[in-house]
Amino acid sequence: MYTSMTPRQFRRRFRTERDCLRYLIKRKWPDGFRCPRCDHDQAYLIASRRKYQCKRCNHQTSLTAHTIFHKTRKPLRDWFWAIFLVATRTTGSSARQLQYDLGISYPTAWSWCHKIRKAMEDRDTRYALQGMVELDDTYIGGKRKSGKRGRGARSKVPVLVAVESRPKGCGHVALSKVTSLTSRQTKSFLTDTVEMDTLIFSDSLSVYQSLSQDLNLYPLTVGNGQRAVEIFPDVHRVIARLKTWIRGTHTHVSSKHLDRYLAEFSYRFNRRFKHRRDTIFDRLVTACCTTQTVTYRQLVSALN
Ligand SMILES: [Zn+2]
Repeated sequence: MYTSMTPRQFRRRFRTERDCLRYLIKRKWPDGFRCPRCDHDQAYLIASRRKYQCKRCNHQTSLTAHTIFHKTRKPLRDWFWAIFLVATRTTGSSARQLQYDLGISYPTAWSWCHKIRKAMEDRDTRYALQGMVELDDTYIGGKRKSGKRGRGARSKVPVLVAVESRPKGCGHVALSKVTSLTSRQTKSFLTDTVEMDTLIFSDSLSVYQSLSQDLNLYPLTVGNGQRAVEIFPDVHRVIARLKTWIRGTHTHVSSKHLDRYLAEFSYRFNRRFKHRRDTIFDRLVTACCTTQTVTYRQLVSALN
């Protein structure tokens, strides 16, 4: 749609609030305005209220309702810039970075990051993995109290990782945190994220063995960790990349919000080849325009 958008081009394209509003109008009515009440095709823009008013019946339509920008008092330009940064930086953006880049408060930056991540999450749940899939679990976050590593390290959260294994490497990925690594939770993760006739391979952990009757799941005896990496290279590559990203960009993620970080990771990963960076911005704004917002209060209450 747009050829390689640089930050300078971004600033030129979205110079004013009106530029952002016009962009939202295009997203809402790609084939031109239609009044939801009388079907008229002409309207005025009431920029101060972020509304479009029908020239015939005066019905007003909010441009930000049903988007993550709903009820925001901050300029849309700041929002768009935040989305641009999250979309175009290969590692995404932490709340701290966003706070610095936009000169906004930390709580605002933090809630914006989560709202954008939720839009990514809503988009990504539509794809089911297929073909051949490698399945494994890993542990993320928390403080390492006992110095124990890997499975069973206390206060870390188990995360299930499924990766399409293709001749040329990894395909799509699906990740989800689970409260504990039980066969019930593993089964529900697989039925949600993997297409029915997919072949799933895993190591011989008992929870996987218990599911091999019900699902197309084939647990293989892998022996030591190095052998596991050789037998399941794709899922191990994804887990390594996830850990590097969390360590590098976010340092620490709270287990309450881990699902949204996982959603951001898989959103970015699943689009790494398909879309050039310049179209990721448009796609991400589209996702933000079709996602109901979560309020700061809802986000914070999830912490308690
Ligand atoms: Zn009308």
